[in-house]
Amino acid sequence: MDAYQHILLAMDYSEHGDTVAQKAKALAAKYQAKLSIIHVLDNISMPDTTYGTIIPLDKDSGYPLLETEKSHLRALCERLEIPGTNRWMVWGAPKQEIVQLAERQQVDLIVVGSHGRHGLSLLLGSTANSVLHHAKCDVMAVRLLNDSFFEKL
Ligand code: AMP
Repeated sequence: MDAYQHILLAMDYSEHGDTVAQKAKALAAKYQAKLSIIHVLDNISMPDTTYGTIIPLDKDSGYPLLETEKSHLRALCERLEIPGTNRWMVWGAPKQEIVQLAERQQVDLIVVGSHGRHGLSLLLGSTANSVLHHAKCDVMAVRLLNDSFFEKL
């Protein structure tokens, strides 16, 4: 099997986000691949900006909520040693933005959690499901166990 060259970690900061991040990091190390990260803002309203939907991480926006999101992303990227050029924060619908960025950046593996903030009662959340269906590259869904769900089975 060919080695992966560019891995994209889709991060939503849900309860199990760290597990997904560590998996992506380990895969990037194993394949000596470039590791990028995307966080899509779908939970805070978009202020008037001059820069469209891609948020420059190196400029102060003046919006407190946005600065909080940026500082979360920065802290995570420092821990994972992801350089500034490989960090993406965009406004939009996660399922679309993840797939589009992967195509634009020639990603060959997207790593998502099996569920995050939207799919706790499902085996596969809606974002994960849509990315699996629409991405042109490989997708790895890290199985995240939801104890209360599995107790019901
Ligand atoms: P969901 O299907 O929405 O429950 O989420 C499944 C996975 O999709 C999460 O574990 C993340 O890897 C990814 N994901 C969901 N929402 C976002 C987001 N806003 N930004 C980046 N990745 C996301």
